[in-house]
Amino acid sequence: MEQRRSVYMDHAATTTVRPEVVEAMLPYFSERFGNPSSLYALAREAKGAVEEAREAVAAAIGARPEEVYFTSGGTEADNWAVKGVVAASRKKGDHIITSAIEHHAVLHPCQALEKQGYRVTYLPVDEFGRVEPGDVEDAITDETILVSVMAANNEIGTIQPVAEIGRVAHDHNIPFHTDAVQAIGAYPVDVDAMGADLLALSAHKFGGPKGTGALYIRRGTRIGTFMDGGGQERGRRAGTENVPGIVGLGRAIDLAVSRMPQNSARIAAMRDRLIRGILDGIPNTRLNGHPTERLANNVNVSFRYVEGESILLSLDALGISASTGSACTSASLEPSHVLTACGLPPEHAHGSLRLTLGPENTDADVDYVLAVLPGVIARLREMSPLRGGT
Ligand SMILES: *Cc1c(COP(=O)(O)O)cnc(C)c1O
Repeated sequence: MEQRRSVYMDHAATTTVRPEVVEAMLPYFSERFGNPSSLYALAREAKGAVEEAREAVAAAIGARPEEVYFTSGGTEADNWAVKGVVAASRKKGDHIITSAIEHHAVLHPCQALEKQGYRVTYLPVDEFGRVEPGDVEDAITDETILVSVMAANNEIGTIQPVAEIGRVAHDHNIPFHTDAVQAIGAYPVDVDAMGADLLALSAHKFGGPKGTGALYIRRGTRIGTFMDGGGQERGRRAGTENVPGIVGLGRAIDLAVSRMPQNSARIAAMRDRLIRGILDGIPNTRLNGHPTERLANNVNVSFRYVEGESILLSLDALGISASTGSACTSASLEPSHVLTACGLPPEHAHGSLRLTLGPENTDADVDYVLAVLPGVIARLREMSPLRGGT
């Protein structure tokens, strides 16, 4: 029997806050507690820290600091991008283009807009979860006011051809938003190279605190304000800034980007060993997502004849934290919209397991998962009513 250990492999859901980030944040809860809008030294200190974080975010994504707006996270940034652009373009048209595999932070705002009378095209994806840029071109009409396609998928790790999609949108003078929450720290992100007019990011996905994110808005992009009130964030997102959170975001994005080359190579090697070990060691198993255009940290596999929820419970009992589908849907029994869009029949979509690696994972963690998983799947299959005659 393997020595039981604690293995966290759910970094697409959230990450631990790096010690350097906690350390950077702490003074802004205590001695540096000033309100950035006030007019004395204590306030200027807080204001300076917020602006330093803005510069760090801008540098990480190839933007100008004045194009970075702090938000309460990825969900708010996505909501603002989608609803804000639509509100500013009401006279121009009523059609939005997005993909069928977006995070709910984009999909649900689109669905809410449909209820208000807007029309939304949900582009299909191929079996690997890729959007075809030609499909974007075909979907564009004179009424199209926004294209929103994520940079990398949180569930299956597929990286989208956003540069090509951005080019198509720009050829038609349509603003392009990309949800880059999973991309930051995983591979180089540059708003110009991606052709992004808007880009969402979230600190807790790359070693920063929860409840802090940012929306990049390219200069000149027409977008409504998100929150009315004081003049914070250039009057577009009012409310006293979450100074400790913003400081943490700035420090975390610095660390994530500077350590990316070493981290992503090591993480990709662990990912590949996990994928190979699972596919070779367990029959009736398939890899979900793209074989190569894939986040360095993402493993997503489906086991026929088993339920994802049962796999998670068994792994949890063995000290392993993982996920099935995305964190937001794992409480429901609906098959994941992402796996369904990739064409998986529901019985395959139900038996999915997502393991997402982070910098603190080790080869010993990978060994442990590969040692215990075959037994878990075999046991569940023995009890499975889904197995039928096979
Ligand atoms: C986590 C996530 C979000 C939401 O970010 P929060 O900061 O948790 O609100 C949006 N999009 C993607 C792709 C994500 O992975």
